[in-house]
Amino acid sequence: MYFNKEIETMPLKKMRELQLERLKWSISHAYENNAFYHKKFEAAGFHPNQFKSLDDMKRVPFLTKQDMRDNYPFGLFAMPMDKVVRVHSSSGTTGNATVVGYTRKDVDIFAEVVARCLVAYGASEKDVIQVAYGYGLFTGGLGLHYGAEKLGALTVPISGGNTERQLMLIKDFGTTMLACTPSYLLNIADYIEKKRPDYDISKTKLRAGILGAEPWSEAMRKEIETRLGINAYDIYGLSEVIGPGVSCECQEKSGLHVHEDHFYVEIIDPETGDILPEGEKGEIVYTTITKEAFPGIRYRSRDITRLYREPCKCGRTLVKMEKVTGRSDDMLIIRGVNVFPSQIENVLMEVEGTEPHYQIILDRKAALDDVEVMVEVSEKLFSDEVKVLDNLKKKISDRFRSVLGISAKITLVEPMTIARSEGKAVRVVDRRKI
Ligand SMILES: [Zn+2]
Repeated sequence: MYFNKEIETMPLKKMRELQLERLKWSISHAYENNAFYHKKFEAAGFHPNQFKSLDDMKRVPFLTKQDMRDNYPFGLFAMPMDKVVRVHSSSGTTGNATVVGYTRKDVDIFAEVVARCLVAYGASEKDVIQVAYGYGLFTGGLGLHYGAEKLGALTVPISGGNTERQLMLIKDFGTTMLACTPSYLLNIADYIEKKRPDYDISKTKLRAGILGAEPWSEAMRKEIETRLGINAYDIYGLSEVIGPGVSCECQEKSGLHVHEDHFYVEIIDPETGDILPEGEKGEIVYTTITKEAFPGIRYRSRDITRLYREPCKCGRTLVKMEKVTGRSDDMLIIRGVNVFPSQIENVLMEVEGTEPHYQIILDRKAALDDVEVMVEVSEKLFSDEVKVLDNLKKKISDRFRSVLGISAKITLVEPMTIARSEGKAVRVVDRRKI
């Protein structure tokens, strides 16, 4: 099933033609209607007239997060403010916030791409979609909300938090799909386990989680699916591009289909900026090709992934991107070794006895990076003899050394020691920066 069959199953050649035509429009639009882009293109010796084929992409200068911050709040808008109907903003955890704007048409595109994702997960207008992403400046809540409404599903705008109420509505409203962060869904799973046998999730109609807004591993998917007996699907997006819905998994769960009729994607070498061939791993770069208020031309996402185009059982011809498990911003450099928190998560979850709640604490001692990984272990294990815990500790630290090439101090803690979040989980505490 598709939301927009023509687009979602379009042959590649036709898609390329559509992209080229739209790229020409988008690049000229940015140049003509935004002073920053105008100056940037001129400084790079590029004029939109020179853009004749997709090959000319390499001549177009990149846009960076810093450019967005420097133009706070509305400096990258390319439409008069009276045509802008909505703004969203990033939380700005690593500097100033970035602000993005949408015209009425942009808002419609946003809703459509999310609706396509929902259909890719198997949803229809018969579904009840509970949106437990935060509503507000963050794109998650409203993004899922309008996508679910566009599909015609019953949309439950509960927002994040209040787990007791989330569970009540899942039961009373017959919720079939729950949209939230993967870490919050795990908290919900913990909560349900504590309430047993009074609350039985298998007696509800919940069958899928729509999970995004933080990187999560395959091991985490398995954990969620086994504990809750549902399907866990990835939804990916960035506010700088549109929000959730830039790409989504289908029921095959083997990569995320990119909505290429709205977003042109390239993979580049993060060091040199050179475009890499399809299939190679690198930084994904986005160009919005239909957006009016906030055109993103060659936006460097800092997300590391690869693109591949292979026939998908779902019938979609849209290019797939590998699940993003690390943003280059999130990459930790520990004693010279590059490690993503998701790799640490994978190692922890492969070891029996650990719970999927952990925190990585980095510090600098005697000029050397010091890593401590706190991980919760099951109650049963914690009451066992010290020897059992010591063995587990050793097992984990051996795996860290052999798989990741780092030595870490492992601290096993009792269940519920690590603070729970209702939005994005705090996985890393980096004291080296203080
Ligand atoms: Zn597919």
